[in-house]
Amino acid sequence: MNVFSHPEFDNHEHLSFFCDPETGLKAIVAIHNTSRGPALGGCRMFPYATDEEALRDVLRLSRGMTYKSALANLDLGGGKSVIIGDPRQHKTEALLESMGRFLEKLGGQYIAAEDSGTSVADLKVMGRHTEHVAGIKEHIGFDGLPSNGDPSPATAYGTYVGLRMAVRHGLGRSDLEGLKVAIQGIGNVGFRLARHLKEAGAKLWVYDIHQDQMQRAVDELGATPVSADEILTLPVDVVAPCAMGAVLNDTSIPKLQAKVVAGAANNQLEHPEHDAALLKRGILYAPDFVINAGGIIDVFHERTDHDHNKVRAHVESIGDTLDEIFRRSSREGLPTGTIANLLAEERFRHTPAQPRHTTGKLAKVS
Ligand code: NAD
Repeated sequence: MNVFSHPEFDNHEHLSFFCDPETGLKAIVAIHNTSRGPALGGCRMFPYATDEEALRDVLRLSRGMTYKSALANLDLGGGKSVIIGDPRQHKTEALLESMGRFLEKLGGQYIAAEDSGTSVADLKVMGRHTEHVAGIKEHIGFDGLPSNGDPSPATAYGTYVGLRMAVRHGLGRSDLEGLKVAIQGIGNVGFRLARHLKEAGAKLWVYDIHQDQMQRAVDELGATPVSADEILTLPVDVVAPCAMGAVLNDTSIPKLQAKVVAGAANNQLEHPEHDAALLKRGILYAPDFVINAGGIIDVFHERTDHDHNKVRAHVESIGDTLDEIFRRSSREGLPTGTIANLLAEERFRHTPAQPRHTTGKLAKVS
């Protein structure tokens, strides 16, 4: 297995492989860049078929966090961890505690949060052995309501704010009354996004692989259910992917009828060049790692301060960042994802290196 010459390596600062035969833990932590601060990112548990698959995933996700946090103006670097195993079969308290001990050894250079396959409760178990876990404290959320640490409400709100900005640029309108939006994936983020949109007067079309999730949007929000094949290609104004990645690809892009793509799913572009394919078709794409940063913003503030008005304002700044990206994209004729990458690189490459964080405590947002 190649590491330094791996196609996704991208000059990662640090990689740790951890194995504990007693608990069955096999994990990788990837720290891409810490020039802005300690690396904060999710801990994913997934039954990867091979070690190579796990390595590729953790490298890609870790790099993405550097870009996401830089564009969200957070004093954080990018990192991610993966535990190899099926969360429904292999997740035990002993394994999670072992992961906690592993994180502790990294001395706060990497801070783990929830991700696919791990929950607030799991992170709390890891937290028995380390303070370098996040997304676990009960606090007053950005919306002034009690939060158990789940970042989904902030992600959904940030996506809503970003979608509004995309509509302003892509469709030239500032109200959402009667706006037609198709949402793929009505889970933690998708449902909340749907509710914000409904309250703003939008009309919704929805699809989820789970019938009950979809039905909830139909019953509570008056959404129209459609099939898997239809959801991305409906004659709507906006498509909001809120399920899985790689949905913007050679098959879907030529069939899109929406003028705006703005949703929370990570890694929506199957390949980087699909960014240019969207521009060529005149479709405004809100880069996923910009629009879905509400969760990391929320988790960051959970560790530093609890002023929910400040958190809300920070989440709302996602709209300003997208405004800048859309303007620059139109001025320079470059795709929005390319502009977002350039902007992020300007921020994390030109930040003077900070001393290694040995406590995992985060600096305040300036
Ligand atoms: P979730 O698991 O709660 O919801 C995902 C929903 O998508 C589920 O209802 C699932 O049934 C559905 N789904 C799965 N495959 C599908 C398919 N092929 N077609 C249609 N629906 C499908 O997850 P979530 O927390 O709502 O996250 C949604 C997306 O947003 C993910 O890509 C996630 O990585 C990303 N994201 C989430 C957060 C967050 O704070 N939760 C933050 C950043 C990015």
